Amino acid sequence: MNLCDIREIRQIMNVFHLNFRKEYGQNFLTDKTVVEDIADYCCDMCDRDSTILEIGPGIGTLSRELAERYRRVIALEIDTGLIPVLKFTMGEYPNFQVINEDVMKADLDAILADAFAEGGKVSVCANLPYYITTPILMKLLESGIAFDNITIMIQAEVADRLCARAGSKDYGAITAVLAYYGQAEKLFTVGADRFVPAPKVDSTVVRIRLYKQKPYHPKSEEMLFRTIRAAFEQRRKTLPNSLCTGFGEISKERLTEIVVACGHRADIRGERLDINDFVALSDALYDEIHG
Ligand code: SAM
Repeated sequence: MNLCDIREIRQIMNVFHLNFRKEYGQNFLTDKTVVEDIADYCCDMCDRDSTILEIGPGIGTLSRELAERYRRVIALEIDTGLIPVLKFTMGEYPNFQVINEDVMKADLDAILADAFAEGGKVSVCANLPYYITTPILMKLLESGIAFDNITIMIQAEVADRLCARAGSKDYGAITAVLAYYGQAEKLFTVGADRFVPAPKVDSTVVRIRLYKQKPYHPKSEEMLFRTIRAAFEQRRKTLPNSLCTGFGEISKERLTEIVVACGHRADIRGERLDINDFVALSDALYDEIHG
């Protein structure tokens, strides 16, 4: 079985009376080297005794490579039509399990409880659907689940944002939030012509190493994320001006004083602050509000 062969993919879709569903971001990989590389890169980081959570297995292209390499693969697939396909393509892998569920609604703690109870590591590996990349990533990060690492293929432009440096044009709220949880690195880029159907843009594989112990200790995580959101709310404005929208209870004059007391110029923009700066600023705002 060669699930990277476009004719074979189309044949499978025909036999199971399926169409590629755009609303689910179904762009299936057709390059075996790329599929093997994603699974291998994920392997560099985890031991083979790990469990892999795969989001959106599609017809099982990446799932087969993961099942070859790891003790167990648990996949979440939203499209009910693909479940019989996966039974067919993954039948020879008893270490593969598919759950027909929307990842955004799934109880990940419950799904992964056994894997953690058995004592192994758990990582995420996926070619993510583009339409929902950021919400999925935020769900994984905010879940607090101790994933060893997250290796994901995403839109190249989103990868640039995740891995941007403070002060660069791609740096945004998601970059700062991600930096709080771990370190992201771009591994390699894959052309749109390596998928069927071909998406409009190229993709990049990104690996996120989550901190086992976070090096940042804000007084309140909620305040940290509120500060980051507010700082990027109005990108073109200075930081005190942008913060005004998110912190209506503090006057603009006082916000300016707080920004300056944190060691910044009053006309600095939010995109120049790295995660350390955001933690310090959010602590100062926390003190201002809570006394
Ligand atoms: N892993 C396959 C591959 O690399 O060829 C398919 C990747 S395709 C880009 C994205 C997959 O995610 C599709 O199978 C799609 O049905 C599934 N999907 C989309 N939204 C989902 C969601 N909310 N929860 C779970 N799976 C989802």
